[in-house]
Amino acid sequence: MKSTIHFTLALLLLCNFSFAQDNSKTATEPYPLNELAGFTQTFFYSPGHEARAKTIAIFMENAGIFFQNELRFTPQAKLYILAPHHWKDFAAKPLHDVYGFPHNIDHVRLAIAAEDNDFWRSFLPPVDQLAPHMAEQVTKAYGKPDGSYSMMPFFDLLALHELGHSYTAQAELNMHRNWMGELFVNIMLHTYVAEKQPELLPALETFPNMVLGGGTAEYKFTSLEDFEKLYPTLGMGPKNYGWYQSKLHSAAKDIYNAGGMKVMEKLWTALKKHQEEMTDEEFAAMLKNEVHPSVANVYFKWNKTD
Ligand SMILES: [Zn+2]
Repeated sequence: MKSTIHFTLALLLLCNFSFAQDNSKTATEPYPLNELAGFTQTFFYSPGHEARAKTIAIFMENAGIFFQNELRFTPQAKLYILAPHHWKDFAAKPLHDVYGFPHNIDHVRLAIAAEDNDFWRSFLPPVDQLAPHMAEQVTKAYGKPDGSYSMMPFFDLLALHELGHSYTAQAELNMHRNWMGELFVNIMLHTYVAEKQPELLPALETFPNMVLGGGTAEYKFTSLEDFEKLYPTLGMGPKNYGWYQSKLHSAAKDIYNAGGMKVMEKLWTALKKHQEEMTDEEFAAMLKNEVHPSVANVYFKWNKTD
């Protein structure tokens, strides 16, 4: 079975790899997971993680209500909230060894981790080595009462980014460019959080702030042209990809702050309407004229703001 995997992991890897084989089980096969009752979407979880599954399900359901109201669309989705010993049975094969990497397996099934893990911890530098203002942000966003840190608040939000790819794929939007495919789901995520759960904004914004605040000296690729060219094979490498995703998270924030909630729906409508091929210039002009200048500025001003 051929499947497309959406990974995003805002700071890490790619979204659009195709794999020749996917050994993930389907919902019709027997498996040792429990299913939550009382939600419109389907949520499976490893036994012992019901409380966490409910927390995630409530977040995703509330977002689903918001997107149904704004976009008048709800995709089919099945979320798998997995303990480490179940990860390989359900995650897409290329990610079997990366517990914690949220990914959209086939535009319907979404795998996320139930527990904190080394993969999430690997993103957090020693907090005492950060600049004081950044250390303060990181502590506010990811600090725990016992003095330790967890990236769980950030990675949980990325589950919604991944679900966003199910929206655009199942509604058959034409994303036109790889950068727009990623930007749009970041706009969905930022718009929902800002509108409905602004207390989560620190968790969403701190990681990109930290990456972009470090400058571009250590990144070989920073142009939008290179992103388009290298995206299909992750040719820029995982860390450089993380920088690009940070730019696209930051752009989503700027777009929301400039144009408000309605930009998301206008962009959705435009991407559904414009199925025709467009040059970069035509695409940017359409975004400026039919959506909002701030969206076109991602293209026009990319190299001026890094
Ligand atoms: Zn993505």
